[in-house]
Amino acid sequence: MARRPDLQIGQRVVPGRAVPEPAGAEEWLLVGKALVAQVRREYGLPANVDTLAVGWTNVDGLESQRFIGGSRAPRARAALPNAAPHLQAPRVNHQFVDHAEQDVGNAFLDAVAGARAEVGAYHWLRIYVTKASGPCSACAQGLDNRLVAPGVLGQLSQRFPDLTVTVVWPQPEGKLGNMILQNGERLW
Ligand SMILES: [Zn+2]
Repeated sequence: MARRPDLQIGQRVVPGRAVPEPAGAEEWLLVGKALVAQVRREYGLPANVDTLAVGWTNVDGLESQRFIGGSRAPRARAALPNAAPHLQAPRVNHQFVDHAEQDVGNAFLDAVAGARAEVGAYHWLRIYVTKASGPCSACAQGLDNRLVAPGVLGQLSQRFPDLTVTVVWPQPEGKLGNMILQNGERLW
């Protein structure tokens, strides 16, 4: 039988420390919301200014870091960090570029390069996105079709074939949307 959700898990999400391990949709949501609340607090962003994304990892040496992403709306209000543009949206239409997922991937790539970290099997990157519909078709492009140019998530996943990338987002009625990527493909 599954253990009961730890409803206090969000309180154990502490800046500068490794993020506690969530089990089950409820805990994932609490962890994600706590991470996003910390970004809002740090950058003075009100609750309804979206899209924001936060990434975290178990790559050695990077466990205490947060990889922060924001779409144009939060970026117009706050000086969110700017990572180097390693990953680029595969489409040029204004609607499909500069998304929060892209920033998280780029921040992760900067951190891995900066720390000269090894990324291999057993390593993961998790990304919480404040968007009820989840990653858009451009960010997710190519995850189910190698013949099209990969979006930012596919590009990220192809760079580290052994890395497991989990993207989660809050859906209506307390549900958790999720996708799991490896080697440029969506496994789930
Ligand atoms: Zn997108």
